[in-house]
Amino acid sequence: MRPALLNPLFASATALPGIGPRLAKALEKLCGGRVADLIWHLPTGLVDRRFSPVVAEAPDGAIATLSITVGVHEPARGPRQPYRVRCFDETGEIDLVFFHARPDYLTRLLPEGELRVVSGRVEHYRGKIQMTHPDHMVTAEEAAGLPAVEPVYPLTAGLTPRPLQKAIRAALDRTPEAAEWQDPAWLKKQGWKPWRAALFEAHAPDGEAALADDAPARQRLAFDELLADQLALAIVRAQHRKLPGRALAGDNALIDRAIAALPFALTGSQQMALAEITADMAAPLRMLRLLQGDVGSGKTVVAFLAALRAVEAGGQAALMAPTEVLARQHFATIQKLAEGVGLRCALLTGRDKGKARAAILERIRSGKTEIVIGTHALFQDDIAFSDLALAVVDEQHRFGVHQRLALSSKGRGADMLVMTATPIPRTLTLACYSDLDVSRLTDKPAGRQPIDTRVLPLDRLDQVIGRLGTAIAAGARVFWVCPLVDESETLDVAAATERHSHLAQHFPGRVGLVHGRMKGPEKDRVMAGFAGGGLDILVATTVIEVGVDVPEATIMVVEHAERFGLAQLHQLRGRVGRGAKPSSCLLLYAPPLTQTARARLDILRRTEDGFVIAEEDLKLRGAGELLGTRQSGLPVFRIADIARHHDLMLAARDDARLILGRDPDLASERGKALRVLLYLFEKDAVVQTLRSG
Ligand code: ADP
Ligand code: MG
Repeated sequence: MRPALLNPLFASATALPGIGPRLAKALEKLCGGRVADLIWHLPTGLVDRRFSPVVAEAPDGAIATLSITVGVHEPARGPRQPYRVRCFDETGEIDLVFFHARPDYLTRLLPEGELRVVSGRVEHYRGKIQMTHPDHMVTAEEAAGLPAVEPVYPLTAGLTPRPLQKAIRAALDRTPEAAEWQDPAWLKKQGWKPWRAALFEAHAPDGEAALADDAPARQRLAFDELLADQLALAIVRAQHRKLPGRALAGDNALIDRAIAALPFALTGSQQMALAEITADMAAPLRMLRLLQGDVGSGKTVVAFLAALRAVEAGGQAALMAPTEVLARQHFATIQKLAEGVGLRCALLTGRDKGKARAAILERIRSGKTEIVIGTHALFQDDIAFSDLALAVVDEQHRFGVHQRLALSSKGRGADMLVMTATPIPRTLTLACYSDLDVSRLTDKPAGRQPIDTRVLPLDRLDQVIGRLGTAIAAGARVFWVCPLVDESETLDVAAATERHSHLAQHFPGRVGLVHGRMKGPEKDRVMAGFAGGGLDILVATTVIEVGVDVPEATIMVVEHAERFGLAQLHQLRGRVGRGAKPSSCLLLYAPPLTQTARARLDILRRTEDGFVIAEEDLKLRGAGELLGTRQSGLPVFRIADIARHHDLMLAARDDARLILGRDPDLASERGKALRVLLYLFEKDAVVQTLRSG
């Protein structure tokens, strides 16, 4: 249970004074509807009100705090005209300017002849000095209470600065003191304040330096968040390893035969990865390993060989793919290889129903089927294995930690191998997978041709189509990808359908279309048509739909390439260049491109190395947008920035390991404080797996 001291933070923001339903709604949209969401909403700018010149010396455009005497009021002369209040000091005159003014309000606030302190932006306008809608207008006594420096927060429609500031202030006032969860020596070394003090400091920047990622208060908060994350992953990892594993030994009989039957030799890194995997499997611990490799680096073969080891040891293997199309793809590949060594595979997806499904389940239960490939349908409760020894998850950022664990729980101490095709920077690997050991496929299979990548404006479409005609006449096959439009599947499908009919006019009967709205069998038919050569062009809506292996495809066209993440584009491009023939990739964009967008597309033109692309993308866009964020399943940090807090991430990982090494149940004093930290960052599910403290 969450410690009571944190409860005020997890209350709805409406519990704060002065926050009604309308404001709450705007806050919800901005950062989330709870008090805790407000405390993590840090300022991105500041207004420094410490500058207080005399009127004659107040420069145009400056934020200034001025002591003035109120002069005559000049009500608006017409509906579009401003209300002016003439003011002055001993050096000159300044007009306070108000549009849509309420005269009674202004005469009350600014009585003629009185001294007032006003703060706002100075304007020089037609030879006059003026200030439009000052931010503050107070008496000299009240001026003492004016903030010298005000934080400026990111806003959203329907929200103005003042109520947001007030809400955040109220949220901060509700923030409890908590026992220190960081190591005191480390805090001292970093020069960091206690958590609550650091939080207040982060909300009260006294200069630009305090807004930077390396400001001490922000570093402290980021480190707290990173430590919570790394600690949670380390706990999951430790829990997983505590479960009894099994030693899967084999005589290499199947593996050797399968390798001999492959039409190619394994690359160095495939051999290395296989050795690491089989060593893990042979150990009595549970394997939890990530197989990371660029598109086309040959992960599937490695996974298949690992599955053979499970079978050699007398068990079964399961491979789970994120989509039905990919599951079918894996099945087609693996079934062929498995038959070569006399094994039986089954495919299980959401599409299998009734008797057919029951028959598949029975074969899985009895152990007649040694290798099972499927979608998340493999999770379902009625699915029982005779003896699942290895679970392979082809992740592609679709599954989370929990799903990974769910599949492996179907076996007694089953080993787990996670494959990811997205080459992610090392820092991100840490953030997402520090619960796993990592094998990387770094070299490409021999004989791959470089892909000729071009970046072209969409208005050259006719030319592109002309070139496709020539290429198709010479036997080329083409993927044509249309992007997601505004996350709306309907528009999405409409755009692809339109492109399909447009292309079909040029190439009658030779263009296929697949999209998310189509029924499974219909999709299969089109895909098969394309793979078999009955179609020359395949128009597809989403990345995943083209997650297929068609070695004959040599041209990839991506429409509105500027809307895709670099990693996605790289994945798409990886769909060609798989055969022996030279391939090309055309990235079509809608002009004008921003400078960043151009730089991003340029990276793709320059390199095919997925890791380089990922690092560059991270630098250009920051972690928030990398890989299309939300659906990517990557952790979303509130304070920490994976691109900028790399060193803190490493420190947090080391710290998390150290902590659990000494205090695996978080039972010590510091351990208890760390539990609070975990709850603060909503790792409730993870804390609940610990023995109660
Ligand atoms: P990934 O899953 O990593 O994207 P795949 O396993 O689908 O890559 O492999 C892509 C293609 O490369 C497949 O057609 C596969 O048969 C082939 N392939 C795999 N390993 C090698 C290798 N060592 N040499 C040549 N071709 C290979
Ligand atoms: Mg693959």
